[in-house]
Amino acid sequence: MTEFSGGCLCGAVRYEGSEQKGGGHCHCIGCRKSSGTGHSSHMVVPEDSFRATGEVRFFDRPADSDNMVSRGFCPTCGSPVYSTNSGMPGMVFVRASSLDDPGVFQPQMVVYAKWAVDWDSVGTALPTFEEMPPPEAMEEVLS
Ligand SMILES: [Zn+2]
Ligand SMILES: [Zn+2]
Repeated sequence: MTEFSGGCLCGAVRYEGSEQKGGGHCHCIGCRKSSGTGHSSHMVVPEDSFRATGEVRFFDRPADSDNMVSRGFCPTCGSPVYSTNSGMPGMVFVRASSLDDPGVFQPQMVVYAKWAVDWDSVGTALPTFEEMPPPEAMEEVLS
């Protein structure tokens, strides 16, 4: 089991965890606009193995699926740190960009590839879905 830690750029938000259930790259518009580049990379972590300290502010925006995505960021430096999704309760989506050692992240899929921009390819070695895959396909990839 890989221990990991991370936080925002200014250090006010810190977190640590001990388990990851894979994750992936998302090219959806919300992930792009909140990222600084063409996608966000999320490490999926069970919330009971995740602890965060410091103030995190959340911006709620419904996803295409109508699930509510709450994107957490540091109110001081603006770094995105982690988010939650009402469609996957009990899970935290850690922004791989905020990891102290981003090498611990093991992405397993690419989603919303239909909105990927030409200059921001994450490669085609991973299973790639035009939109969000159905739950069965997602479980297969993440298992
Ligand atoms: Zn900060
Ligand atoms: Zn997204």
